[in-house]
Amino acid sequence: MRKVPFFDYPGIYTRFKGQFDQIFQDVCSRGAFILQKDLAEFEAELAEFLNVKHVLGVADGTNAMYLGLQALGIGVGDEVIISSHTYVATANAIQMVGASPIFADIDENYLLCPAAAASKITNKTRAIMPTQLNGRCANMDGLRSLAEDNQLVLAEDSAQGLGARYGNEFAGTFGSFGTLSFYPAKLIGCFGDGGAIMTNDDALAEKMNAMRDHGRDANGEVTIWGTNSRLDNLQAAFLRLRLKHFGEDMERRREIAGRYQRGLGDLSEMGLPPSPNDSSPHFDVFQNYECTADRRDELRQFLQNKGIGTLIQWGGVPVHHFEGLGYGKEKFTDLSNTDKFFERCLMLPMNMSLTNDDIDYVIESIIGFYLKDNKQ
Ligand SMILES: *Cc1c(COP(=O)(O)O)cnc(C)c1O
Repeated sequence: MRKVPFFDYPGIYTRFKGQFDQIFQDVCSRGAFILQKDLAEFEAELAEFLNVKHVLGVADGTNAMYLGLQALGIGVGDEVIISSHTYVATANAIQMVGASPIFADIDENYLLCPAAAASKITNKTRAIMPTQLNGRCANMDGLRSLAEDNQLVLAEDSAQGLGARYGNEFAGTFGSFGTLSFYPAKLIGCFGDGGAIMTNDDALAEKMNAMRDHGRDANGEVTIWGTNSRLDNLQAAFLRLRLKHFGEDMERRREIAGRYQRGLGDLSEMGLPPSPNDSSPHFDVFQNYECTADRRDELRQFLQNKGIGTLIQWGGVPVHHFEGLGYGKEKFTDLSNTDKFFERCLMLPMNMSLTNDDIDYVIESIIGFYLKDNKQ
C-alpha cells in the first residue's frame, strides 16, 4: 500500500543532503557560530525577497512576536486583538509581555475578520495582530484601515506566510513588524528552531537588534534590557539554501493546491481553500492545505487506514477553549465562525516531498470515502 505521511521530516534534509553537508563543514570549520556573516547574508537576502528594510534572525517565531511587542512597549494592561484560528504561540507572545490576547472571529478567509476585530476595540486596545495562516493573508485593506482609524499598532504573526501576498505587499511587511518561523515543517524550515522579525522602522529594528543579543548595540554596549534570541549562524547558512529554492517551492505548492482543487472541487461534502488561480488580491503559498469536511473524524480514520496522514490542527480546539489557560467551553459567544470551523477542519498533505501520484492517491481515496457513503 502507498504511504503518504502528513509531513516527511527527514525529507527536508535528504532533498539537498550533499549541499547541506558541505555547508555544515564550511561553517563549522570557520568556527562561525553566533552572529556571523551567514546570518547577515541570510537576513539581507530575505529582506530583498520581501521588499522590507530590515530582517533580524531570532530564536524562533514566538520570540519574534515577543521581541516585537516588547520593543513597542506593549505590556501590562494592554489588549492585543488576534484570531483564535491560530497557534497558541500568538497568544503566548502577548501574555509573555504582560498584555492580554483578545479573540475576534474569523471571516470567509477563515482569518481575522476586520469587522469582528473592530467590535473588540476598547480603550485598552493597543494592537491588532492577524495571523497569516496556512500561507494566506487576512483582509489587510480592512485591518490596516481599522488600525489607522483607531491609532492602533498593526503587527502580523506571519510565521506561516513567507512569500504570501495581499495586493503588492508581502505577509509580514504590512505593519510595525511581522514574523517568520523556521520550524522544520514551515515553508522554509531549518534543522531545529529558528525565526525572524521584519520591519521597515529603523528605530524599532535597532532596538530589536540589541534586544535579541542581551541588549547590546552595534558597538557591543548594553543600551537596553534584552535577552538571548539569536538565530544560529549555522541554521541561517542552511536557510540561505532553502531560500534560494523557495521560488520553485512556492510554485510547486500552488501546483499541488491546483491538483487538489481539480480533483476534489466538485465534492459537496468538502470545502476547499480558494484555488491558487482565482484568489486575487491574495497570492497564497499554501503552507498548509486546510479543508473543511463532512464527517471529518470518520474521513480522517478512513484515510489513515489507507496510509494517508492528515492533521486536525491544534487537536481541533481553538485557543479560546484551552481549559489549561483558564478558558471555558462557553465563555465566548461571538466566535461562532471559529467554533464551527474547528468542528470541520482537516489538513491534507502539502509539502515538497509529495509526488503527483501521492496527491492523486489522496484524491481518489477521499472520493472513495464519500462515494461509498452515497451508495449505502
Ligand atoms: C509555527 C507558528 C508559530 C511559532 O513559531 P515557533 O518558531 O515554533 O516559535 C507562531 N504562529 C504560527 C501561526 C505558527 O504556525
